[in-house]
Formats: sequence, structure tokens, C-alpha cells
Amino acid sequence: MQVEKAILYIIIPCYNEEAVLPITSKMFLKKLQFLIRTGQVKEESRILFVDDGSKDHTWDIIYELAKENKYYIGIAQSRNRGHQNAVLAGLMEAKDFCDITISIDCDGQDDLNAMDAMLEEYYHGYDIVYGVRAERKTDTFFKRFTAEFFYRLLNKMGAEVIYNHADYRLVSSKVLQNFSDFKEVNLFLRGMFPLVGFRSTCVFYERQERIAGDSHYTISKMLTLAFDGITSLSVKPVHIITEMGIFLAIMSFCIVIWSIVQYVMGETVAGWTSMTSVICFIGGIQLICLGVLGEYIGKIYLEVKARPRYIISNRTYEAERLNIEENKEQ
Ligand code: UDP
Ligand code: MG
Repeated sequence: MQVEKAILYIIIPCYNEEAVLPITSKMFLKKLQFLIRTGQVKEESRILFVDDGSKDHTWDIIYELAKENKYYIGIAQSRNRGHQNAVLAGLMEAKDFCDITISIDCDGQDDLNAMDAMLEEYYHGYDIVYGVRAERKTDTFFKRFTAEFFYRLLNKMGAEVIYNHADYRLVSSKVLQNFSDFKEVNLFLRGMFPLVGFRSTCVFYERQERIAGDSHYTISKMLTLAFDGITSLSVKPVHIITEMGIFLAIMSFCIVIWSIVQYVMGETVAGWTSMTSVICFIGGIQLICLGVLGEYIGKIYLEVKARPRYIISNRTYEAERLNIEENKEQ
């Protein structure tokens, strides 16, 4: 079956990326022009930068790029909201103008050549194509170790994520239209797309080193993301708490029986040490459990408020967009 060629929007979140953007923007353009020239995507395809409230000159660079070449367009978030929200803003912005989106980081770490394979899979009928890192040779041992731990933990905790897939992903606009009904404020995109369903597959690529600048994912941000992923996608921790509670209750019951037996046998020596340790232990467990429950309540609090997940303050193409909207209304 010959499918009609698609309009592709490449979605690129950028936060304080003035050091890399001038370099990688050229790479993206070259790639897009190649894809258009070889007939893999339509001429109307675009590169959409999402400035995530950068504090440096990222937006100025995007603005200049958009003036220079029609393939570049950009939107700016009104403030820094984090990687996930930036990607979402881009996807939601693009979904009505294109047939497919590919989200990719702007630091040149993800291999652009994987896009050909992604498109091929799309034309074979897949609506979501996950870019999966084949290896992590360029990462430090520490980064590799923490990242592996991250995926293991997520899967163990019941959040379904693709191993070694970050946010380099092809998604069709059909999926995005349905995805826009997922109204949650706590975002963990790579775990949410599997929930939308549709046919999906993986494409493997090798991850490179960052071209310039530093990673924004510190160890504490990674831990936050892992915890967010788990608590957004699964209630397993709450189950674990219940199981732990049952286990402790049974243990305590045995200890009560044991102490009664000891009492009857007249061997009740004041066991101050064991008593204190048990109290501390139980107290600790209770605090952890309360903390985990609190996390969920915190999430509910944020969801109930239903604040906007992104606010676009600027576009490089206001006029063009208005035209499109006018046309749609007619
Ligand atoms: N990013 C963003 N908002 C943020 C942090 C990061 O839009 O608050 C973007 C960043 O510009 C990059 C991508 O998210 O394009 C991934 O960030 P980074 O390369 O720092 O993470 P790593 O690849 O080390 O996991
Ligand atoms: Mg990176």
C-alpha cells in the first residue's frame, strides 16, 4: 500500500542552549532538507523549537533562525517549566499542522540518522516509533549505572516504560489527538505514550556526547523524574505500603504472643534496648509510608487545580498561525 508522504514537525525543546543551538540547528535543517529532497516527507515540514523559558539568548537565536529560513519556527514558554512540559507544548502546538512529529533534544546527542528508520516504520503502519539507545558507551560509568537503575526501578514499580528510550520519538498526529485527552499535570511522556496504545515499534541508535554546554539532568533531577514517573503511572508503592503493613502486623502479633508466653513463664526481664529499637523501626516505617502517601496526595492536589501545563508567550509565526486558524474556522 502506497501511503501519501507526511508533513513532519521536528519538536526540539531548548533550555539555555545558546552554546549548542547555532551548531545543531544547522544539523536539523540539513536533515530535514535531506528528508524532503529524498521524498520521505512533504515540503511543508518544519523544525519547531520550544524555548523553555531560557535565561540566556536561546530565544533570540530561535527568532533569528526563523527569520533566516522558513523551515525554522519557534514558540516560547512564558517561563521554565521543565523538559517534559516543553516537549508537550511543542507536540500540542504541532498536532493540527502536521501528520507526524519527532521529538528530539537539541544537544546533538540523539542520532539524526535514526529519523530515516523511524519514518520507514511509520510508512509501514506504526503510529509511535520509540528511539532506543543501542548502547551507552559515551556516558560515564556513573550515568550509565544510574540510568539503568532508573529503568529497572520504574518497571519494577509498575510504570511501563521502554528500556533506554528517552524522548526521541516519532508520534503521528492521530496519536497526539487522542493524547491531548490525557489531561494530567504531572507529566512523564515516555510512560504515557504506551498508555495511548496504537501500533508501536522501536528503532535503535547510538547516543553521542553532548556537543556543547552541560546536561540539565543532575542526579537529583533524575531521581525526581524517576519518582515522578513511578507516582504518576503506578499505585504500586501504595500497595507495597499495605503489604508492609500487613507483614508488620503479623510480626507484631507473633511478638505479642511471644511476650505473653515469656510473662507466663516468669521471664520478663525489662528489655529496654529491644523495645526502643522496635519503636524506632516502626516509627521510621510509618514516616516513610506517610511520605509516600503524601506524594500521591500532593499529586492529586496539583491535578485538582488543573493549572495549564504550558503557556506559550511568543511565536515566531503569529501571522501564519492566525491564517491557519482562520481557514479552519471557515
Ligand atoms: N530542557 C528543557 N527544559 C529544562 C531542561 C532541559 O527544555 O528545564 C531540554 C534541553 O534543552 C535539552 C533536553 O531538554 O534539549 C534534554 O536536556 P539535557 O540534554 O540537559 O538532558 P540529558 O540529555 O543530559 O538527559
Ligand atoms: Mg542531553
